[in-house]
Amino acid sequence: MTNVAVVGCGVIGAAIAYELSRVPQLKVTVLDRQPPAQGATGAALGVLMGAISKKTKGRAWQLRQSSMQRYETLIPEIEAIAGQKIPFNQQGILRLCFAGDDLNKWQELVEIRRSQGWQIEIWDSAQLQHQCPQLHNHRIIGAIYSPQDRQVDPLALTQALVAAAKYNGVTFKFGVAVEGVESTTPQPSIRKTCHQIHTSNNLSLDIDWLVIAAGLGSTPLTTALEPSVDIRPVLGQALHLRLPQSLGNADFQPVITGDDVHIVPLGNGEYWVGATVEFPDETGEAIAQPMLLEKVRQEAISFCPPLAEATLLRTWSGKRPRPENRPAPIIEPLIGYSNVLLATGHYRNGILLAPATAQIIRNLISPAI
Ligand SMILES: Cc1cc2nc3c(=O)[nH]c(=O)nc-3n(C[C@H](O)[C@H](O)[C@H](O)COP(=O)(O)OP(=O)(O)OC[C@H]3O[C@@H](n4cnc5c(N)ncnc54)[C@H](O)[C@@H]3O)c2cc1C
Repeated sequence: MTNVAVVGCGVIGAAIAYELSRVPQLKVTVLDRQPPAQGATGAALGVLMGAISKKTKGRAWQLRQSSMQRYETLIPEIEAIAGQKIPFNQQGILRLCFAGDDLNKWQELVEIRRSQGWQIEIWDSAQLQHQCPQLHNHRIIGAIYSPQDRQVDPLALTQALVAAAKYNGVTFKFGVAVEGVESTTPQPSIRKTCHQIHTSNNLSLDIDWLVIAAGLGSTPLTTALEPSVDIRPVLGQALHLRLPQSLGNADFQPVITGDDVHIVPLGNGEYWVGATVEFPDETGEAIAQPMLLEKVRQEAISFCPPLAEATLLRTWSGKRPRPENRPAPIIEPLIGYSNVLLATGHYRNGILLAPATAQIIRNLISPAI
């Protein structure tokens, strides 16, 4: 058997654990200092902006495309193994267009997506009004509707991935932090090999592969290994609102997004609204600013006025792991090591990109066994 340790059990670590659990020769252990999905994952809205994103080529599009394709099979697969229902909105994403938006650019995207096998539509304001009478703003000139895009509950998804991976034989250790890593350098010119990790409960685990899926915790872990990856926090706040009934047409409840504010339907008149994007200050800290959350609420009300009557059930915040000075995400071997893989820095799209990330990690490990 080949021993793989995965550090971190947010959506990325959990998706990797499940994908690796399908490779018979692997013995996988996942360690997290918290219960599953307590980092960025637990704060996410789960909006999967695939076809509607402006990425059309290269790695950014490939990751999105393979994640979206995998989600369609992954959700029923893990629901069946875990025996848990995962809220998965298949009514698409509706992105509002405002005065000044270049609809020709969107027409170009419609053509590109058609050639790639994806369907998106441009709606004029009359069609939008007919489908979503709750939306009112004189600046709205139409919308882009992407029926194949999705939204998933990040906590339910992560918990089901954990349950399915457990069923397939993966060991999870929660409440256990990875504090140290032992490696050997056979010769100065040859890449180092990690052979053991040390944990907060004084355990040592012998390993053949180490996967670092620790979000913001990836920086201290790799600082010990060298070279370190620089991942910084970008804070996001969001709201949970309740109305007496669903907005607009109860049978058509897509995610609605305008000016980078998402309205995420949860059913029964409940909605998530978010999120702020708050960069760290000069000390590296990102502290939630209440007025920025209020600005997001007001923006949502500006194009969806019935939200002004909603009851506030909850607010929360989380920190997105963003790589400094390089594109997100980082899915690659750690430089200088033969058996350490990074799956981190997913910034604003970790829920979207978790399935593709897990497939890449599986492909990096499985040819080697
Ligand atoms: C408000 C908000 C809204 C968002 N909305 C969306 C969205 O709509 N769509 C989307 O795709 N993405 C969204 N995101 C981004 C998404 O949440 C992240 O990209 C994703 O959750 C990152 O997952 P992760 O598993 O890498 O990190 P995390 O979820 O942060 O998990 C990392 C885990 O590693 C553990 N850990 C760290 N160090 C150690 C250690 N030394 N030992 C043991 N365990 C360790 C932590 O305890 C943690 O559980 C949003 C984020 C926020 C904050």
